Amino acid sequence: MRDQAVWVDEAVCIGCRYCAHVAANTFVVEPHLGRSRAIRQDGDSTECIQEAIDTCPVDCIHWVPFESLETLRQNLIRQNLQPRPQG
Ligand code: SF4
Repeated sequence: MRDQAVWVDEAVCIGCRYCAHVAANTFVVEPHLGRSRAIRQDGDSTECIQEAIDTCPVDCIHWVPFESLETLRQNLIRQNLQPRPQG
């Protein structure tokens, strides 16, 4: 296990799917909200995830401490994000 977790700030994500193409075992664009989410932490190599981070056009994928994940999730829920318009 690496010492940091990967986290998508869904409030900023534009749903372009680049990250999911690069690191398909890690990122999935959630169908309802149309925003990417890291569904697991051990699905791709660090290099592959870093490539996905580098390809994100809005820089909304971050390395964060594992212990921050739950707080970040709770903050996202509180923002009550709305679905992105498709197309
Ligand atoms: S590359 Fe960035 S903006 Fe595009 S879907 Fe992934 S997290 Fe969202």
